[in-house]
Amino acid sequence: MKQMSLPLQKLKSETELILEVKNLTKHFPITKGFLGRQVGVVHAVENVSFNISKGETLGLVGESGCGKSTTGRMILRLIEPTSGDINFCGKRINNLRSEEMRRLRKEMQIVFQDPMASLNPRMTVGDLIAEPMQIHGIDKGTPKEQIVKKLLEAVGLRPNHIYSFPRELSGGQRQRIGIARALSVKPKLIVADEPVSALDVSIRSQIINLLEDLQQEFDLTYLFIAHDMSVVKHISDRVGVMYLGKLVELAPKSLLFARPQHPYTQALLSAIPIPSPGAKKDHIILEGDVPNPINPPSGCRFHTRCCYVMDRCRQEEPELREREGSHFAACHLD
Ligand code: SF4
Repeated sequence: MKQMSLPLQKLKSETELILEVKNLTKHFPITKGFLGRQVGVVHAVENVSFNISKGETLGLVGESGCGKSTTGRMILRLIEPTSGDINFCGKRINNLRSEEMRRLRKEMQIVFQDPMASLNPRMTVGDLIAEPMQIHGIDKGTPKEQIVKKLLEAVGLRPNHIYSFPRELSGGQRQRIGIARALSVKPKLIVADEPVSALDVSIRSQIINLLEDLQQEFDLTYLFIAHDMSVVKHISDRVGVMYLGKLVELAPKSLLFARPQHPYTQALLSAIPIPSPGAKKDHIILEGDVPNPINPPSGCRFHTRCCYVMDRCRQEEPELREREGSHFAACHLD
């Protein structure tokens, strides 16, 4: 398997690296029959590499099924990688035993897309927020109710929400509970997996602003996963673009939005609506569907939909290479 050069952000020596992912790969076997004979493989994530420094937000964006959520869950070891390295705060965590991983997990939390599905409807808000603290045995000396009320205030809810049940809250309020649960164990890294996709458009910016405020207050680092370019534009310092399991572009936000290098990124950006009435821009329509990850295209995985496709693209996989300061793209075009 071809190993790509690592698109690692150049860090100042004093910058602390929180997460480093090298050649992360996930293949899901497809089995058939009573004996579970393997008949194929879903190439969900292939040789993905990036790093995140302390206090940074890396946005990971791409269409549904591109592997971005699988990448986030592998980092938390909720899904086991097929190969590749995950280093968290300088420590390789791939092979940690379950007890070591359980201890580490309080430093790496997840906020899910659907807060209703991720919250136990029979528990009160107070119990839901206190639960991760009990699991990890932290803040034993301080009354839980006091901590929970402070967390409720931090996420913009009233202290008396402590007695509510999830069904009594709006979607935005439930997502605030999901965020408070993650914060309760004082994590260093939060993987926010499509945290605003299930919310009304009017609520999305409130939650994104909240995440930004909390990042300062709680000294957080985010991997922010979304399918919507306009959402990652708001919150990210850098943006990684995934297509069919591959990282095809990675750059500081300003460079990526000003000078996208990969034709797929250019198409995604062209789909962002312009807010001013009457303003127009050319929308790049991608022809065809995303290919099947069981049998991804040879060469460049995007070649079946790319308007610049050349013979070389069908045969030779483009490396993710640096174009300008910390701007990487995987394309044969110069
Ligand atoms: Fe398009 Fe070829 Fe670049 Fe792939 S390598 S994005 S097919 S021009």
